[in-house]
Amino acid sequence: MKRNLFRANIVRLAGYVPGLQPGEQKVIKLNTNENPYPPSPRVFAALRGALDDKLKLYPSPTADGLRQKGSEVYGFRPEEVLVGNGSDELLSMVFRAFVGADDVVTYPWPSYSLFEVLAGIQGAQVCPIEYHADYSLPEELFSNHAKLTLVVNPNSPSGTFVSGEELYRLAGSLSGVLVIDEAYVDFAEEDCLSLARECENVIVLRTLSKSFSLAGLRIGLAFAPEELIGGLLKVKDSYNVNCLSAVAGEAALLDLAHMRTNVAKITTTRTRLVQALQELGLEVYPSQSNFVLVRISGASAADVYEELEKRGILVRYFNQPRLRDSLRITVGTDAETDALLRELKASIPET
Ligand SMILES: *Cc1c(COP(=O)(O)O)cnc(C)c1O
Repeated sequence: MKRNLFRANIVRLAGYVPGLQPGEQKVIKLNTNENPYPPSPRVFAALRGALDDKLKLYPSPTADGLRQKGSEVYGFRPEEVLVGNGSDELLSMVFRAFVGADDVVTYPWPSYSLFEVLAGIQGAQVCPIEYHADYSLPEELFSNHAKLTLVVNPNSPSGTFVSGEELYRLAGSLSGVLVIDEAYVDFAEEDCLSLARECENVIVLRTLSKSFSLAGLRIGLAFAPEELIGGLLKVKDSYNVNCLSAVAGEAALLDLAHMRTNVAKITTTRTRLVQALQELGLEVYPSQSNFVLVRISGASAADVYEELEKRGILVRYFNQPRLRDSLRITVGTDAETDALLRELKASIPET
């Protein structure tokens, strides 16, 4: 193309690079934090039940059945809940609603790399502030004047958790909006949902992609004061959640026991994985998620990543400052974890 037809900030934009999704190949997939266990049988039954003539009609613009269920389960009014086509879409709505050209967006870093892309689309400036070495919140994050501050909690890719008290103090110190992305919170010991009730500037995001095993259906929930949800509704696509996803999400929320059983299996495997990695002499950050960030010693993390890939195991490597010596590994089934540990040992010459 000879002419440049794009906005200048889109030309500059690198675009988000998702983790690899291999097609038919038989690999052990520990790179994008999906749940290794299937969703509730109720989800399949609900989907089958929804395959009828109603598909010719548009869905509820605000996915009202799921919105209602989400409000009941998490203790909000429906007006304080917004359903998204994945929490990634909710993040994109947040950026469209609160961030304009040349505005400042901030977040502790390293964190979710999508934030930089969404800011770039708005033509906004990002001002990431580095986490302390132990991934506690940097003091410079407090009292900042950014339009939007985002904290992933538990954080990705570190898996670490900051307390509700810290985030409450952070919310109260800001002049702009605080988004707390709780994509992994069902794997953690506490959550910060109450902040969406107590603070006028807090939006808490949840997703059914990880703990509920529904990444393929794209279902996210936002919880916030009614005024914030009302503004977000203005930038929403008219029918952003399709009727099958809405029905499936509702069924998933009716079977919390199924989700909790899977979470318990995963956190048990996580404990075992962390111990085994430590026995190999590797440093692991304390994880409250369904993945661990491990610092590779005795070989380069990039080499180990490639060696594991050759051996049929996909993990995540980030070619970024502070992460170049590390790998992020999703907690899979016990059998997948055994295979990972076996191949990892074989990939690090020193151990
Ligand atoms: C996986 C993930 C999401 C995306 O969730 P979807 O609902 O699948 O869009 C959002 N934030 C973080 C930090 C994630 O890791």
